[in-house]
Amino acid sequence: MKFVDEYRDPAAAAAYADALRRVVTRPWTLMEVCGGQTHAIVKFGIDELLPPEVTLVHGPGCPVCVTPLEIIEKALEIASMPDVIFCSFGDMLRVPGRTADLLSVKAGGGDVRIVYSPIDAVAIARDNPGREVVFFAVGFETTAPANALAVFQAADTGVRNFSVLVSHVLVPPAMEAILSSPASRVQGFLAAGHVCAVMGYAEYEPLARKYRVPIVVTGFEPLDILQGVYMCVQQLEEGRAEVENQYARAVRRAGNVPAQNLVRDVFQIVPRKWRGIGEIPESGLGLQDRYREFDAELRFGVAAHRADEPTECISGLLMQGLKKPHECPAFGTRCTPERPLGATMVSSEGACAAYYRYRRVRTQPQPAER
Ligand code: SF4
Repeated sequence: MKFVDEYRDPAAAAAYADALRRVVTRPWTLMEVCGGQTHAIVKFGIDELLPPEVTLVHGPGCPVCVTPLEIIEKALEIASMPDVIFCSFGDMLRVPGRTADLLSVKAGGGDVRIVYSPIDAVAIARDNPGREVVFFAVGFETTAPANALAVFQAADTGVRNFSVLVSHVLVPPAMEAILSSPASRVQGFLAAGHVCAVMGYAEYEPLARKYRVPIVVTGFEPLDILQGVYMCVQQLEEGRAEVENQYARAVRRAGNVPAQNLVRDVFQIVPRKWRGIGEIPESGLGLQDRYREFDAELRFGVAAHRADEPTECISGLLMQGLKKPHECPAFGTRCTPERPLGATMVSSEGACAAYYRYRRVRTQPQPAER
């Protein structure tokens, strides 16, 4: 397949691994901050190709995984209300709240619908003027422009029965929270190519300078990731701490300026709670005051709700690079994709789901072994 196969060429991957072996002289720990990259690393066994000195840990890069429990609880309450049509991307439907998920609300008669774009939810609102239509607006900087456009369009065309339940998060403040933790062992980052395609990478430069860490904007295919690791290790070995762009075929330093302007028009920077990690200052997006009428938390009176995270799930430690999924006592036993305890096992981009799917620690004999 053109534009895919050339980034999955085994001979080129082996050549990168050899080049890495020649350049590395001591142990380094790198973190990727993108669920898509985590998935590719585990699926293609990229971490097993690397020299033993290089360790990859998986950061808070899965948007479903970092959405806090209290937002899930708010979604469940709103979705259960009569005359509400609750719209969401499909991957949020199985994220567990305290006692239910959106799929069980739907099974119980709630009008929960999967949409492929927030603009579809605006169209549903236009077609159902007697009902309230809510879109679950979660994600990183990548999904913010489309969600901003939906709110802008609803305001512009007078669709007043539309609102958004917002839980947007921003990558650089999370990286800073990880770096400023005394427990952090991260020495270099692979930054998410799609986030940088929207936001550019100038905002990562102060982080690289302040914490003396190399940050390499990296794509999602195996060779992208291997090259990103190589560039990061090369900087570390040379004592450099710069922002470099491996994903130059899609990312410019300034990013997508019209998309950024739209996001700034609709959203403002707010403190945001990250599931398993806690509140990080200035790490999220909330609606600008002039768009408050589209805020579902205010419209449905759920803004003050709070919910504590379950203690058994250690996904917060995973997303800070302090543990790996198979180090969780519940992994593969009490927590599986069919019966997830935490969001990192639910989402297809979650580290626990990736480890379970591609290198499962078996707990029961397989059929052929019985
Ligand atoms: S295996 Fe399950 S309980 Fe353990 S960290 Fe992952 S999602 Fe949480």
